[in-house]
Amino acid sequence: MNLVGLLPSQLEDLAVELGASRYRGRQLATWIYRKNVVDLGAMTDLPKEFRAVIAERAVLSLPDAERVTPSQDGSRKIVFRLEDGSRISAVIMPDGDRITLCLSTQVGCGYECAFCLTGTMGLERNLNAGEIVGQLMVANSLLPEGQRVTHLVFMGMGEPLANYAALVTALRILTDARLGIGYSPRRITVSTVGLVSGIERLGREDLKINLAISLHAARDETRARLMPVNRSWNLAALMAAVRKYPLAPRQRIFFEYVLLNGVNDSPEDAAQLARLLRGVRAKVNLIPFNDWEGAEDAGFRRPPIARILAFQSVLLDAGITTTVRWSKGEDIGAACGQLREPVPA
Ligand code: SAH
Repeated sequence: MNLVGLLPSQLEDLAVELGASRYRGRQLATWIYRKNVVDLGAMTDLPKEFRAVIAERAVLSLPDAERVTPSQDGSRKIVFRLEDGSRISAVIMPDGDRITLCLSTQVGCGYECAFCLTGTMGLERNLNAGEIVGQLMVANSLLPEGQRVTHLVFMGMGEPLANYAALVTALRILTDARLGIGYSPRRITVSTVGLVSGIERLGREDLKINLAISLHAARDETRARLMPVNRSWNLAALMAAVRKYPLAPRQRIFFEYVLLNGVNDSPEDAAQLARLLRGVRAKVNLIPFNDWEGAEDAGFRRPPIARILAFQSVLLDAGITTTVRWSKGEDIGAACGQLREPVPA
């Protein structure tokens, strides 16, 4: 059993089970999540006997940062090697006062979006809550003294809502202000291919985190070709769930839209998107396609800049907040849709 990834309340229960008080469990949570310490030897305010009992029954382990690759743009890709030899990655992206961490939730991904390199891996397995939270704890320890990750996006490998239980446990640990890591939910964004049942369930958790939808097309025919998931939940079903997602007064839903030359990037596509989003408190992030080996054969290329800006201006004219998001870490295979790590035999 790994203590990293247990909820603070579970650590309290465990302390009692081991013959100590709930207070000891709270101390454990404080060391792990508030002080980012996983070495029992350093937890000097815990009785020696209690630490010995824990050491017999459990471990405190973080994913191993096997490789850290810096990009020319200041971002860094961390490749983690997990207990079973699987590999996942996370990306640290500094931008002014912000330091955003992009986290993975699965080894590989099962949704097979046609333009995504991770999708070509297939799904290997779900991460557990400790492996999700652990990516952040390691990233924070890699930053210089006094700096820490300020924003979290669940946009790495995997489909967060397909690993629902571990995702929600991780989110509770991340947002628990007293005994957890203590991030404001407004600084956390979970991105999904559009799993309607998961969106509805997440809305009921009262977590107050941001939701991002990977939309990529405003017509069912195009979207189903790019994203097989659209055959289970089409745009009407998806938008109905999105409209019901609870939002705080100034909060908005984010929509990601990968721009693919000649596929989904015409001014008519933009107009269709504007119609689809009518009446939704939306912010659109246009992501110019990031290349990977074999993408061109599959028919995917980044549109010329003029076409990207023309698409954006249709949305802006319709009154929709729209930014072009130039991905970070393209030179190190860390940009959106470029995360793939070798799978052990
Ligand atoms: N599975 C979730 C989380 C991953 S987020 C989801 O799809 O939302 C990663 C984002 O990068 C998604 O919006 C994905 O569609 C996008 N993406 C995938 N491949 C890409 C590529 N080659 N270029 C640009 N964006 C890409």
